[in-house]
Amino acid sequence: MVIKASCHCKATTFEVTEAPAAVTFCTCSFCSKRGSLWAYYSPAQFKLTSPAENVTVYEWGSKTVKHGFCAVCGCGTFTETPDWSTGEPDFDNPKISVNSRLFDDFDLDQIEVVVIDGKNLW
Ligand SMILES: [Zn+2]
Repeated sequence: MVIKASCHCKATTFEVTEAPAAVTFCTCSFCSKRGSLWAYYSPAQFKLTSPAENVTVYEWGSKTVKHGFCAVCGCGTFTETPDWSTGEPDFDNPKISVNSRLFDDFDLDQIEVVVIDGKNLW
């Protein structure tokens, strides 16, 4: 089931191929302020359906992760990141983490929230 997502002003829209089994809340300094609930996809499962120039990128810390946000309304939208599941960045295995709070017509309350302790991990 394709899920469509949009930022508040709809200048940024995207689609993912399926509902997430779980979403992640990260306690790191960035995510705790942004409030995103992350859902992870491969690049093939993600499609940006609005102009790329409406996305602005923020990078911090190691600068290996590109945090996108809407250039118009500021909503955190999606992030391009290497795979970190081994603890080291795997640039051959890129992931797109999308802010599931932007999903339209989707009941996020039914999805399990996994908390990761980013505050102490990075
Ligand atoms: Zn926007």
